[in-house]
Amino acid sequence: MLVVMRQSATPEEIRGVVAAIEARGFKAHPIPGVQRTAIGITGNRGAVDAPVFESLPGVLEVIPVTHAYKLVSREVKAENSVVHIGAVPVGGPGLVIAAGPCAVESHDQMLTVARRVKQAGAHILRGGAFKPRTSPYSFQGLGEEGLKILAAAREETGLPVVTEALDVEGVDLIERYADCIQIGARNMQNFSLLKRAGRAKKPVLLKRGLAATLEEFLMSAEYILSEGNYEVVLCERGVRTFSDFSRNTLDLAVVPAVKSVSHLPILVDPSHGTGRRDKVSPLSRAAVAVGADGLIVEVHHDPNTALSDGPQSITPEMFDELVSELRQIAPVIGRSL
Ligand code: PEP
Ligand code: MN
Repeated sequence: MLVVMRQSATPEEIRGVVAAIEARGFKAHPIPGVQRTAIGITGNRGAVDAPVFESLPGVLEVIPVTHAYKLVSREVKAENSVVHIGAVPVGGPGLVIAAGPCAVESHDQMLTVARRVKQAGAHILRGGAFKPRTSPYSFQGLGEEGLKILAAAREETGLPVVTEALDVEGVDLIERYADCIQIGARNMQNFSLLKRAGRAKKPVLLKRGLAATLEEFLMSAEYILSEGNYEVVLCERGVRTFSDFSRNTLDLAVVPAVKSVSHLPILVDPSHGTGRRDKVSPLSRAAVAVGADGLIVEVHHDPNTALSDGPQSITPEMFDELVSELRQIAPVIGRSL
């Protein structure tokens, strides 16, 4: 259910509705919009008694939300959400590019890549300190040491940092060291992790699961918002199909699909989406053209020696070229870079 306030509603009237919702044991989610404030109601098992709320001062109407997901839907909030990662707005007119190595390998490696992507025009730095590897024998990441290196890279470049939390304990650490908590594809339906991220004081980058439908993807985002964290950026990173020429199939059609039903921003990850260095730039150009709010790209100064995802990491030179191409595409679709 959604309680839509009149445009003229006062802060006191909004507080009154929140109190009335909470008095019935439900959770109230005030969502300020450009036109009006709407207050989402969650936590109700059965139907909510709409007339009770309709009669409160300042209320325009009470409407049912038709989708299973509520707080992430455009029914609740018509205009696009802008999420800030550090000081970088994601979801506004400016395209956002996050770049960096798959994994933080050493201080030298991270700083070398960080300086180069900053110089090329990246806005956000990526790098995994906790890596979800298919094999337990593969490099698992530097852990807290990696987070310290990321903090040092931010210190030097001024770029905010996004890094993945594999578990609840990881969120505690990443909240301290980084600017954005990444929840990876394999953890998209780790519900205790989603709930913990929903109580975090930092924004969350939620990647789509390897076989997740649009509704499952949005329901996972809903978990985070329902706990009170509205700062969520979605990320399409490819899904499993029968296609055998790329690591995953980058589902670019999900971008306009998300935009039509949700107010949340969405980035595209062409690196995991293709798994091949030579396909990263073409799919990045397509992602921007299709309406993504930006990209998250793996860049390594020496991809052949990378400890993780070398085959899909582009070189700093390729990244330079890509950024300059995107700068030409952006204005065509009314965006800037
Ligand atoms: C990553 O960003 O390095 C990563 C592991 O991504 P995904 O969860 O999409 O596989
Ligand atoms: Mn990777």
